[in-house]
Amino acid sequence: MCGHPMKKNGRTGKGVQRWECPACRLSSTMPQRERKQARALEVFVFT
Ligand SMILES: [Zn+2]
Repeated sequence: MCGHPMKKNGRTGKGVQRWECPACRLSSTMPQRERKQARALEVFVFT
């Protein structure tokens, strides 16, 4: 996002991981593409 390391900041109502940048107070979720890859990896690990 802004180039700073992001910290986990709870989850949204949909259970999506929310991230916050402590340096500039920016809060956001991960980009859609990375979320999809993470989920595919989870499925691979747990099946
Ligand atoms: Zn930042």
